[in-house]
Amino acid sequence: MRKCIKCGEKAQVYLPQHRLSLCKQHYLEWFDNRVEKTIKEFKMFNRKDKVLVAVSGGKDSLSLWKSLINLGYDADGFYINLGIGEYSQKSYELAKSFSEKVGKTLHVVSLYKEMVPIPEMRKYDSRPACSVCGTVKRYYMNKFAKENGYKIIATGHNLDDEAAVLFSNTLNWSVEYLKRQYPVLPEEDGFIRKVKPLCKISEKESAMYAVLSGIDYIEEECPFSEGATSIDYKMFLAQLEEKSPGTKLRFYSEFLRKMYPILKQSEEKPKLQPCKICGEPSTNEICAFCNLKMKISQKEAKA
Ligand code: SF4
Ligand code: ZN
Ligand code: ZN
Repeated sequence: MRKCIKCGEKAQVYLPQHRLSLCKQHYLEWFDNRVEKTIKEFKMFNRKDKVLVAVSGGKDSLSLWKSLINLGYDADGFYINLGIGEYSQKSYELAKSFSEKVGKTLHVVSLYKEMVPIPEMRKYDSRPACSVCGTVKRYYMNKFAKENGYKIIATGHNLDDEAAVLFSNTLNWSVEYLKRQYPVLPEEDGFIRKVKPLCKISEKESAMYAVLSGIDYIEEECPFSEGATSIDYKMFLAQLEEKSPGTKLRFYSEFLRKMYPILKQSEEKPKLQPCKICGEPSTNEICAFCNLKMKISQKEAKA
C-alpha cells in the first residue's frame, strides 16, 4: 500500500512523473500549490485582478475555477452556450450548478440569442466547426471581459493540450505559431490578457482534482472534437509518457525555457486595427467575427 508522503495515511493518488503519493487532502493542496506556482512563474495575475474563467462545464475549466477560488483569487465564470445539442444543454446545467455551489457569478452568453448555434453556422461558413467556434468564442470572451471590468481571461488548457499543440507545431515547423505558444498572451491593442494556469497540469491530474473535490463535470467531449488530429498527438504522447513518465512536462517546460526565448526575439507582431464594424482588434479592416455575421445575414436575406 502506497502512503501519502506528507502524512503517512493511505495514498489515493500516485503521480509517476513527480514520484509522489498523496492522500486526498494533500493531493488537493498539491494541485492548488501547483496552480499558484504557475501563476507566479509566468506573472499571470495577482489577487487584486478580476479574473474571468472561460467555463465549458468540463473537468479542466471547473477544476481551474475551483482552484482559483480556493487560492483566494477574485474569479467569476463565463459560459457561452454554443447550441451544440445535448452536449451544450448538459454542460450548461453543470456549469450553472457549480457556480451556485461555490456562490460565484456565472455570466452566460447564448448563441441562440446572439447569432446562430454552431451546428447551423456550417451553412454559412465552409471552415471546420472548430475554427468558426474559435472565432466566436474569442470574440465574446474578449468583448465581455473588457465591457465588464475583467483584467484577465483564464482558460483551462492543460499540459496535454499544450504538449499536443506544441508537438503539432513542431512537426509542421509552424514557426509563427511556436512564437506565440506561451501560457500568457499579454493585453495589447484592445485584447485582454489571456492566461493558462493549468499548463503544467496533466489531464489526468485535473480529472483527479475534479473527482476528489466532488465537482460534477461533463465527461462527454464535444461531438465536433471527434477525429481532430490533436487527439492522435495526445495518444502518441500518452504512449511516450507511459514508457517514460515526465516526457510531456519536459517537452513543454523545456520548450518554454530554452526555445521560446530564442523564437520570441524574432517575433513580428501583427499590426492590429479596430474593426470598422464592432471596434474589436483585428488584422483586417473587418474582423473575422463581423465577417461571419455578415455572411449569416446575407444568406438569411436571400432565403
Ligand atoms: Fe467548439 Fe470545436 Fe471545442 Fe466543440 S470541439 S467546443 S466545436 S472548438
Ligand atoms: Zn496526506
Ligand atoms: Zn468586428
